[in-house]
Amino acid sequence: MNKTKIIATIGPGCDDESTLQELVDLGVCCFRINLSHGSKDQKNRYFDLIRSLRTPLGLRPTILADLAGPKIRVRNLEKPLRIKQGDSIVISNDQVGPGKISVTSGVRFEKINPGAQILIDDGRVSLEVKDLLSDQALECVALEDGVIENRKGVNFPGIALNVPVLTEQDEVDLQTSLSKEADWIALSFVRSPSDYDLVRAKVRDAGYTTPIMGKIEKWEAVQNLDGIIDSFDAVMVARGDLGVETPIEKVPLVQKEVIEKANQAGKPVVIATQILDSMVDRPVPTRAEVSDIANAILDGADSLMVTGETAIGKHPKKVIGVLSRVIEETESSIDYEKYSNEPMDKKINTANAISHAACSVSGDQGIDILVTMTHSGSTARMAARYRPAAKIIAMTPFKETCRRLAIVWGVNPFLVDSYKSADEIPEIANKVLGKMGLIEEGERFVVTGGVPVGVPGTTNYLSVLKGN
Ligand code: PGA
Ligand code: MN
Repeated sequence: MNKTKIIATIGPGCDDESTLQELVDLGVCCFRINLSHGSKDQKNRYFDLIRSLRTPLGLRPTILADLAGPKIRVRNLEKPLRIKQGDSIVISNDQVGPGKISVTSGVRFEKINPGAQILIDDGRVSLEVKDLLSDQALECVALEDGVIENRKGVNFPGIALNVPVLTEQDEVDLQTSLSKEADWIALSFVRSPSDYDLVRAKVRDAGYTTPIMGKIEKWEAVQNLDGIIDSFDAVMVARGDLGVETPIEKVPLVQKEVIEKANQAGKPVVIATQILDSMVDRPVPTRAEVSDIANAILDGADSLMVTGETAIGKHPKKVIGVLSRVIEETESSIDYEKYSNEPMDKKINTANAISHAACSVSGDQGIDILVTMTHSGSTARMAARYRPAAKIIAMTPFKETCRRLAIVWGVNPFLVDSYKSADEIPEIANKVLGKMGLIEEGERFVVTGGVPVGVPGTTNYLSVLKGN
């Protein structure tokens, strides 16, 4: 049971039932559907495919529905445009023609000054702004030779553009995702904590409670990091766009900062993009990639997310195999005792204090199993926050909670029948642990729960029990 979780992006490289099931068997707990690509039919098909799979515990894998957000792209370009250093290029949102590149409509350029840089295709093409021709057209010069292709992303690092939080396409994709029972919604290009409120209101209006993950990939998000971690239910370090929106040398430091702050806040944090990029084409990873994975684990990532490696790569199964092995090996070296697991302040609530105490008791007594009886999943997340050596088994009567928790560090969710009284807890816990082969007769385990049963946020009960 690895503690660090694996999320894989579904795409043409793996989108048949048997390959996907193999990926699950190799350790994938969650699939991400990248809603930037594909027709409505294709997207629906992906939701249905994932819903037909089963994890080792009998549930379907978690679905992370990733909304494209206001990504600016090259459009209406009939064939790739070769450019030479020094060429003059007009970037506009309404014009096409020789030497002109049209981008997503509706973007206004009023805040851009000469000297600013524009990066296309993850920085493979860079332009410098020479003149603001109008608020819809910029005259630029190419800084290197390169090729501009249709649909490639266009980034304006350091510039606050006037674009909406959700595009029209996102609104449609959000409704599809909710009705297809996505377990998490990811929001791309988050800029401010209030982006959460806007999406939360739409999710609520549609009648759902689906948690929302904020993707940290814009320079504004880095500036507003504390507020974003505070408001979102989870965060992702989306290193692809982040490495274009901010200087690439800042990416490792931002990654570490996001992990540290998210860990402190008890919010899940996902590290994404170019995790095993070389394996898109090759069957073995680079040493640098393996080191990067190990370091993300040691820093405290909850999940690692592969993108093109499984979505369009040639070796999706090998990719998950490598990830699982690196996770296992790295985790085996961790001395959990040395984590500083103290609560941040003295005013934490009872549920949090009980979760902390459960981790201390399991550590002090060398107990390997920590059961959290949870409804919303928050007790399991709080226990995970203290990074115990013990396996956290989250028992809940709700499938949604199981699937939401699957991406959280160290948490093994398990669906149980609903129970009415705390008196039933020892029996339920014993039965499940026995079934999972996790305890032997007489072996101790720690359990937390809440009395009265079924009232969210009432974790107030901690006990050390013995397997029977
Ligand atoms: P994307 O997000 O694949 O949706 O762009 C990941 C990233 O930017 O790293
Ligand atoms: Mn991105």
